[in-house]
Amino acid sequence: MKLVLQGHDERYTVEQSLMNLFPGELPVYGPITPEDTSWAVITQEPWEGGCRMTVSLSFGGKTSHREEVCPLSGTDFQKEGQRRYAMARCFFLAARDVTASPPPWGMLTGVRPDKPATYALSRGMPPREVAAMMEERYFVSPSRARLAAETAEVAAAAMADLGPRDIALYAGIPFCPTRCVYCSFVSQSVEKSFALVPPYVEALTAEIRAGGEMVRSLGLRPRAFYMGGGTPTTLTARQMDQVLGAFEASFDRRGYHEITVEAGRPDTITAEKLQVLRDHGVDRVSVNPQTMEDHVLRAIGRCHSGADVIDAMELVSGFGFAHVNMDLIAGLPEDTPEGFRRSLDRCLKMGADNITIHTLSLKKGSRLLHQRAAIPTPEAVGQMLDYAAGALGQHGYRPYYLYRQKYMSGSFENIGWCRPGAACWYNVYIMSELCSILSFGAGGSTKMVEPGTNHIQRAFNLKYPGEYIQRPEKCLANQAAFAAFYREMDAHAHEKGDDPDAVFAQQDQ
Ligand code: SF4
Repeated sequence: MKLVLQGHDERYTVEQSLMNLFPGELPVYGPITPEDTSWAVITQEPWEGGCRMTVSLSFGGKTSHREEVCPLSGTDFQKEGQRRYAMARCFFLAARDVTASPPPWGMLTGVRPDKPATYALSRGMPPREVAAMMEERYFVSPSRARLAAETAEVAAAAMADLGPRDIALYAGIPFCPTRCVYCSFVSQSVEKSFALVPPYVEALTAEIRAGGEMVRSLGLRPRAFYMGGGTPTTLTARQMDQVLGAFEASFDRRGYHEITVEAGRPDTITAEKLQVLRDHGVDRVSVNPQTMEDHVLRAIGRCHSGADVIDAMELVSGFGFAHVNMDLIAGLPEDTPEGFRRSLDRCLKMGADNITIHTLSLKKGSRLLHQRAAIPTPEAVGQMLDYAAGALGQHGYRPYYLYRQKYMSGSFENIGWCRPGAACWYNVYIMSELCSILSFGAGGSTKMVEPGTNHIQRAFNLKYPGEYIQRPEKCLANQAAFAAFYREMDAHAHEKGDDPDAVFAQQDQ
């Protein structure tokens, strides 16, 4: 779509809205010519103590024109949020006039579409009014508005439970047995990078020990620890023992709600490794088939069958972990609504108290993007998700966290479902940005959150295992930044971010 911006350079907001409302349309900047059939002119101008937005748009033989007046008040940060909200709203309304069906999350384009609902609840809005607010203010569909209201209630409860010095910990193991076709993660296949695993474990344990000292010196309390990947169980039992032992020695276990380890691929799970997890107090594991259909498993590059998943789950259940999660993906290549239904029905029989339903995201770095695979249509994905919502609800599961990724089929979402009392708090903390997350390992993303404000900073570890091993000084610099964040917070608390538009502006990040 040809885009013309007048009086501003708000490319990010406009491009996010474009991707959300016109999937497949790429932004092109330049003057509109008579040959252009798909274009939008987005104008901002000063207007009586604020600004006025206008959007004129042409698509599919139809044209529309909308305008919004936006009063501006408060801090610069708040005004920025108000301006971005008005521009996104104006673009959405103009686009809605020319498109057949608006996306399920309305004008919300970001990773955390339930963040405005959590914000409203935390500022005293009665829960029964939250869904209506999401529909009216952000044009979210009724089913997604109810969903956001439900997950926001869980986030609000978690927020109330967290103290100002509570944090969560994450460790990443960026190795997998093979690479799935839809993966854009830096994860390396163990076959190709076997030699890197032992030095990686050494570097990781050194980083964890340094982090433990820093956390103790700041008087912070870890509430949850999550080991993800990649596939952590690609490590040997001895290597897992080494990493978990470093955590035990470095952090006080008493404040933890939970310790989670992703045992993602069933073909990496052994009794010996599960025993190590139990010995270190791991109380939550995740076994992630993604599908139970063998031909779909082959299509996504997995080396195991649905029967292997059943065997792995039997093995896991013998170790008595308090909570078990299973991941499925709606929209995988070669899958159908019937195949997805069979996969979910089989998972429901296996007794996991958490089931996470992802929607396929066609990521830029993935092999899938370049393959001619038969990918289900957005309508078929919608049928899969509708079936999941009905079946999981009937079996006593409730949605407790959600998030979105770019390029998702049908602009849907990923939802964590659980039985009562089985929520994984780490997932709630990270998705609702409720507390700082101190991350260890290659590609680790540390997030520093000042509770009750919109003040968030990030620091990233080096991405690839090789550079992570060779340059430990980068991790130490990130830990120094983390410590400086808390020291600054102690000396000078930021203003409370009391503005729904500031929250709107943050849901994209
Ligand atoms: S298991 Fe996850 S991290 Fe590993 S290759 Fe597959 S999608 Fe990527």
